[in-house]
Amino acid sequence: TGEGLIVSFGEMLIDFVPTVSGVSLAEAPGFLKAPGGAPANVAIAVSRLGGKSAFVGKLGDDEFGHMLAGILKENNVRADGINFDKGARTALAFVTLRADGEREFMFYRNPSADMLLTPEDLNLELIRSAKVFHYGSISLIVEPCRSAHLKAMEVAKDAGCLLSYDPNLRLPLWPSPEEARKQILSIWDKADLIKVSDVELEFLTGSDKIDDESALSLWHPNLKLLLVTLGENGSRYYTKNFKGSVDAFHVNAVDTTGAGDSFVGALLGKIVDDQSILEDEAKLREVLKFANACGAITTTKKGAIPALPTEADVLSLIKD
Ligand code: ADP
Repeated sequence: TGEGLIVSFGEMLIDFVPTVSGVSLAEAPGFLKAPGGAPANVAIAVSRLGGKSAFVGKLGDDEFGHMLAGILKENNVRADGINFDKGARTALAFVTLRADGEREFMFYRNPSADMLLTPEDLNLELIRSAKVFHYGSISLIVEPCRSAHLKAMEVAKDAGCLLSYDPNLRLPLWPSPEEARKQILSIWDKADLIKVSDVELEFLTGSDKIDDESALSLWHPNLKLLLVTLGENGSRYYTKNFKGSVDAFHVNAVDTTGAGDSFVGALLGKIVDDQSILEDEAKLREVLKFANACGAITTTKKGAIPALPTEADVLSLIKD
């Protein structure tokens, strides 16, 4: 596996997670560092499975930024699309699941280095050499990274890359839900392949129904594949010619962070070398079984990056 290059565009940051569960941020006695950022997770998911992967984005020229770049390197993700900002610092997020079941977030983004990526910073040669360009970034929210995001997409499209989009709705970061919906849908019809979660489907359609009708209301004429991930209920797929669902694997889930990114990385790693998957339902179902297995394994360990599987991990779950 792993001939074609997958470039993943967006942010990489550090989540600080309380050392004990079920407390508010103010009550946390201490925090553990969990590197993440959906696009970076996808880049590592691809390489851990044996694919060729690169990350494009900006980090702070600080201890955290160099730590994150080191993690990409250790995981065989190409780093020649990374910029370091001399002034701004690496993005940080503090995240907790409180005892009352609510998630609480706090972000260091005022502005963080990832938000300062400019169109001029982009390694265009790297983007043009990709077969698949994946974006799932919060950089749509503000300038100048918004312009960088749009330029990177355009360059990738002109170079003939397959464009893959995961909206990764992180509502607390947007000025308003209306703005989030509008901006996400503004780049919708550029993508060849879109993956949404059940929550995003509800949000984008404004309906609480998760069925074929609501999924297909998000269809656009140039789309090749639409996926809806449903956690422990697996995933649904839609193409011009066929639709269906693939069951999840039963696992003991302890932390679902990164399951969707793992799923996307697995899928892209297969499609990059064989685009006929998009037209052949039997092949697509095989690939989605593999991607569901990747997502499932990712839920069995704490954190996203440490939990991303190798191909051997996936094959052993599939054959059980
Ligand atoms: P996201 O992280 O984008 O919300 P999901 O949580 O739906 O995405 O996870 C992506 C995929 O990972 C699912 O389609 C499913 O195959 C797998 N997965 C997620 N959670 C579980 C779980 N609890 N048990 C088994 N598989 C899971």
